[in-house]
Amino acid sequence: MNNNLPKVAYFCMEYAVDTSMRTYAGGLGILAGDYIKGAKDYNYPMVGIGLKWKQGYSDQYIDKDDKAYDSYKNYKYDFLKDTGVKVNVKIRQRNVVCKVWLLDKFGTAPLYLLDTDLPENEDTWITGQLYGWFGEERIAQEMVLGIGGIRALRALGIDVDVYHFNEGHALFAGFELIKEKMDSGLSFDAAVEKSKNEIVFTTHTPIVQGNESHTIDRLMYMGANNGLTIEQLVSLGGSPFNMTVGALRLSKISNAVAQLHKETANKMWKDVDGRSEIIGITNAIHLPTWVDENMISAAKNDDKEALWNEHMKNKEALIDFVYERNGVKLDKDALLIGFSRRAAPYKRSDLLFTNSDIVDPLLKEGKIQIVFSGKAHPLDDVGKEIVENLVKFSKKYPNSVVFLQNYDMTIGRMLTHGSDIWLNNPRRPLEASGTSGMKAAMNGVLNVSILDGWWPEACKDGINGWQFGDGVESEDIKFIDEHDSKALYDVLTNKVIPTFYSDRNKWIEMMKNSILSTKDYFSVKRMLDEYYSKMYEK
Ligand SMILES: *Cc1c(COP(=O)(O)O)cnc(C)c1O
Repeated sequence: MNNNLPKVAYFCMEYAVDTSMRTYAGGLGILAGDYIKGAKDYNYPMVGIGLKWKQGYSDQYIDKDDKAYDSYKNYKYDFLKDTGVKVNVKIRQRNVVCKVWLLDKFGTAPLYLLDTDLPENEDTWITGQLYGWFGEERIAQEMVLGIGGIRALRALGIDVDVYHFNEGHALFAGFELIKEKMDSGLSFDAAVEKSKNEIVFTTHTPIVQGNESHTIDRLMYMGANNGLTIEQLVSLGGSPFNMTVGALRLSKISNAVAQLHKETANKMWKDVDGRSEIIGITNAIHLPTWVDENMISAAKNDDKEALWNEHMKNKEALIDFVYERNGVKLDKDALLIGFSRRAAPYKRSDLLFTNSDIVDPLLKEGKIQIVFSGKAHPLDDVGKEIVENLVKFSKKYPNSVVFLQNYDMTIGRMLTHGSDIWLNNPRRPLEASGTSGMKAAMNGVLNVSILDGWWPEACKDGINGWQFGDGVESEDIKFIDEHDSKALYDVLTNKVIPTFYSDRNKWIEMMKNSILSTKDYFSVKRMLDEYYSKMYEK
């Protein structure tokens, strides 16, 4: 254990531990899971606080009319240990008992999960569905995570130096820290100042509407104010109360999750007075979870034959996986494009289909084949239309376009191992980081991406992957979509396709460069070091 390092309590709504544990929805959970695993590998003193979701995030399937529908199961995790600790949180005037479970396979970084599904509770469903239901339920979940989380740490007797809120969901933990100090005699202002010194915050969402807010009335009704007055609440998060604004004001330092995202976040929140500085700490991944070691060693040894053979093994495994799931047999000799993203409009999953005069022949002649995956949020009708649209394309091009339903860690792993290229075409600068591209890069799957998220930091165009769009940004959606789709066709038809089919040597050289240029910097070790030196130890 690194005994001289501060002890960190890491708060997050979701953790992606492995496929069998449905306690994650997407990138935020993947980051948190990789973070805890990294803390274990490198002996960082940390404790994770989360919720034990009974059903977790939606399983999302496609029905016979090509529509996306959600399905929930109750999951049991027998491997969790009962700590014997229970804490109470008053929600909507009712006492809610939160039982504390322990996942103790992460060495120096034990993960504690709170659970309200107990016979003594009326409100058993608070820890039912991750991001399920509406505003009140979300607040109740966040009260369990934040207020319950701090009380759990106290009951467990764990001393903490730094409280890290990964996304604004954990903000109510800050209210509990304030309350503790006010209970011991401090004024509100003094309690805020002192609590700030213990809190750091990571912001993720570069879309204003994606940053959760609630009316003050609703917070008061739920009891989320935790003893604070209306004026005190407004002084932290405004009215309506914005969770991100509150966290920015209640932390000593904040960070965005890539360097470009730092610029974006600072612009977004420039008018928030009294907020902490937002620095940039670029996300990273846990290599043992996501990366084929044989690819790394082949790249290190400059063994081109091994690199290609191992890649073909991964590609064939993906092709078999797709066949088992969807009954489509893809061609191992044809360029295979992987694309999996949450179904949100700014990610433009159908950008490639913009001009059918260009894309039709490529797909029909078997020059390119695409495997899509991705879920829409259960309450997001627009997202579901995006999924349906992709399913329609898979019907239109049955041999070359595939949609894998119910995106999860298994699909994420298969796709970032076995694709030839990893396509990413968000409207810049709306992709905060994009860790799937790092997984791909380290497996020798070449990124072909808009210069957004992490990619501007890694891209050497034509050497370790490709960029397109030249970093152009515009609020004019029609303009930027047209601009970027043209750029995508240009890079595909003039660079990617010719290199893949006619210059295999260069392709393999690029695979090697992709692996060697990313494997250290975008590994979780660098990220942990930066969090400790730039956020926790300051
Ligand atoms: C890696 C991963 C993500 C996050 O990747 P993005 O690039 O942010 O989309 C989300 N979901 C799954 C299942 C993953 O494996």
